[in-house]
Amino acid sequence: MNKLLLSACLAGQPVRYDGASKPQYLEQLQMLIDNGRAVIFCPELAGGMAVPRDAAEIQGGDGDQVLNGLARVITVNGEDVTGDFISGAQKALQLCQRESITIAVLTEKSPSCGSQQTYDGSFSRTLTDGHGVTAALLGKHGIKVFNEMQIKQAIECLNAVTDINHEQ
Ligand code: SF4
Repeated sequence: MNKLLLSACLAGQPVRYDGASKPQYLEQLQMLIDNGRAVIFCPELAGGMAVPRDAAEIQGGDGDQVLNGLARVITVNGEDVTGDFISGAQKALQLCQRESITIAVLTEKSPSCGSQQTYDGSFSRTLTDGHGVTAALLGKHGIKVFNEMQIKQAIECLNAVTDINHEQ
């Protein structure tokens, strides 16, 4: 059975930096979760961070630049947490490879999970185009990353992969 990787906060788990979840999309995801087709994961917790934790943003680029050593992830209190973010991304990738996952639905705007936009590092709620660290690493390895506004497309993609596998 093909599965997708799902941000834990979208699955209703209270793992965000402020101890909240992001349950607004749960209804659309519930069937996938109930059918065991969603592997629920939080890269920041897997990378060793706690709940709650200081807000963090990428400074000097996006997740691709972080992976290339050209940008850092810094908390609002100035702590460099780049290593934790990279570790969480690597664990997400390992999980996908272990479970043969090729599709992910990750939370937009997060410095880990954002796939189109993240905050710009100024802690002024300013968005910039780019990937979070986990989204960047998964994308580099051929995993299709969708956000919570693209759940329908992600499910269509998952079903298409499942159909192809059934045909083989
Ligand atoms: Fe949600 Fe991803 Fe942030 Fe974890 S790292 S709280 S899964 S957005």
